[in-house]
Amino acid sequence: MQLHKLGEFGLIERIRKKFKKARSSKRILVGIGDDTAIISPHIDKLVLLTIDTMVEGLHFDLSYMTFADIGWKLMASNLSDIAAMGGIPVCALISLAVPSSYEVKWIDELYKGIEKISRRFNVSLVGGDTVSSSLLVVSLSLYGEIDRKKFSLRSGAKVGDLIFVTGNLGGSEAGRLVLKHNLPLGGEVLAEVKSKHLHPIPRIDKAKMLLKNVRIHSMIDISDGLASEINHIAEESKVGALIYEDKIPISKSTQKVAEKLGDKAINYALYGGEDYELLFTLSQGEQKKVKNLTNRIPIGEIIERKKGVLLIDRNGYKHRLKAKGYEHFKNTISAIKRTRTAMS
Ligand code: ADP
Ligand code: MG
Repeated sequence: MQLHKLGEFGLIERIRKKFKKARSSKRILVGIGDDTAIISPHIDKLVLLTIDTMVEGLHFDLSYMTFADIGWKLMASNLSDIAAMGGIPVCALISLAVPSSYEVKWIDELYKGIEKISRRFNVSLVGGDTVSSSLLVVSLSLYGEIDRKKFSLRSGAKVGDLIFVTGNLGGSEAGRLVLKHNLPLGGEVLAEVKSKHLHPIPRIDKAKMLLKNVRIHSMIDISDGLASEINHIAEESKVGALIYEDKIPISKSTQKVAEKLGDKAINYALYGGEDYELLFTLSQGEQKKVKNLTNRIPIGEIIERKKGVLLIDRNGYKHRLKAKGYEHFKNTISAIKRTRTAMS
């Protein structure tokens, strides 16, 4: 059945029924179905608000992603922002712009993906908006909470800090390439990079554990690639940074994919994005605790602003590390120019 047969209200009713059971918290007084949701806020906490949007053709490719994958990933990218602050997610709103020719079962699947990850992280879907459009655009907004005193910003890095990441980088880009080119790769490699790309696990628990045990100076989630994120930290903290190429953690599977494609895996880590690990900085005195808690070694250090953001390669040469992950508007400008010229 196509969506135009069911209509807007039919679809909302369908979603409502599914999420009635999934309502996990007593703090949600009113969920889907009224003019707004009603939430009982936690009096001792600060509120976090975030939103992310996925656009068909730009953020997902239906040739290798299922609708459930899209739902999972959209929620994961939002949760990752909450993790970067050190917060806990509470509830979500979804805006759905969808072609009326879409099959109802595709939207069912999209919401299944959303429900699966919501259950895992204890998030309640409390409302949204539904409109028809020429291509699928889904926005998800999250309400989360943090301790009044324990949160982590991009702006707190200090000269002399060590830089850490919570896990392997570049795996999502490797997965995207494997899926896109349908590369023939062995089971384990394939499973690892595929799941890194399609079902990333936001580091909510790790961030909370770290904030509880060590004094974090700054933190950001790695959604656009290490190069871009370390530049954000440097910019907001008014510092420079030095990253050691040989210390960036990259899994064997990711290396294998890069080899197969004649790429350098380091470029997936620096510029690939969507790994949803966390990057954080803290003083040297805290290093031992991080090692004990996460078994991670530093990948770099914070230096003076005037020295810039640098990468030291395996031969000891320094390079300026530019933020050249994907940037909206910039990466699409030539396409728009072409269209405009054609129209005028
Ligand atoms: P209104 O016109 O007053 O904004 P709607 O008809 O848009 O009301 O929405 C009715 C209820 O359904 C609201 O609780 C809204 O939050 C919820 N809702 C609408 N669209 C969605 C959606 N795509 N996903 C989840 N909840 C939705
Ligand atoms: Mg509405």
